Amino acid sequence: MSKANILEIFLSVQGEGKYLGCRQIFVRFADCNLNCAYCDTNFARADFCKVETAAGSMIFRDEKNPLDAAQVVEIINNLGGDVPTQAVSFTGGEPLLHWQFIKEISSAIKNFGMKVFLETNGTLYKEFEKISDAIDIVSMDIKLPSVVGKNLFDLHEKFLRVAQGKDLYVKIVITGETTLEEFLSAVDLIAAVDEEILLILQPVTPIGRICVASAEKILSLQAAALRNLKNVRVIPQTHKFINLL
Ligand code: SF4
Repeated sequence: MSKANILEIFLSVQGEGKYLGCRQIFVRFADCNLNCAYCDTNFARADFCKVETAAGSMIFRDEKNPLDAAQVVEIINNLGGDVPTQAVSFTGGEPLLHWQFIKEISSAIKNFGMKVFLETNGTLYKEFEKISDAIDIVSMDIKLPSVVGKNLFDLHEKFLRVAQGKDLYVKIVITGETTLEEFLSAVDLIAAVDEEILLILQPVTPIGRICVASAEKILSLQAAALRNLKNVRVIPQTHKFINLL
C-alpha cells in the first residue's frame, strides 16, 4: 500500500478557477519540483499531517506522517459526511510527485460520488500520463519565466498535449513583473494545442513584497489573449476574502 507525506486534509470551497465555490476536500501533499517567486505555500515535509476535524471548524488533529492510502480514504469519507461534495482536490506542493498514491485512492473517491481534481504546475507530464485515466478535472498552471527564473514552456506544452481532452483549464498568475512577450508565448503555446482551452488569468494575491499588476495591465493581457483563444477569464483567488482555507 502506498504512503505519502501529506501536510493538510480539510474541507472548504474551491477558491480559484473554473470550479470556484464548489465544495471540495483538499489533500495537500508535501514536496514541489519548482520554486516560484510568489509561492505562499510551505511544502516542506512535516512529521504530522493536520486533519480538520469538521468542515470549516479549522480545528485540526495531528496524524503521523507518512499516511497510508486506506487512512486517507477514511478521512475523506468522514469529512465529506452525507453532504454532496463535488471533488477531492489534490494540491501541494506538486501532487504529481505522489502519483502512485493518487492512483491508489482515486477509485474509492469516485465510489463516494466525488470527482478527482488535480491542481498541478503542469510540468510532470510523464507522471500525469501514468494516472490520466484516474483524473477527472485538471487545473494546470503555466509558470512564466519571470516567476520561476527559467523557461518551462516545452514541459508545459508536453503536459497540455497529454491532458488535452480532459476537463482541463489553464491558469496563469499575473504579477506586475509579467511581460507581454512571455505572456503571449504562453497564449501561443495553448492555442497551438487547442484554442478552446479555457485560460484563467489570476491576478497575484498580494503577499510580502510581491508586485501586483494594475487593472489596465490585466485587461490588456486579457484582450491580447482573446485574439488567439476563445475563452479567457480573469478570476482572483477568492477563499482568502472570507478567511476560508
Ligand atoms: S509550483 Fe506551486 S507549490 Fe511549487 S513553488 Fe510554485 S507556487 Fe509553490
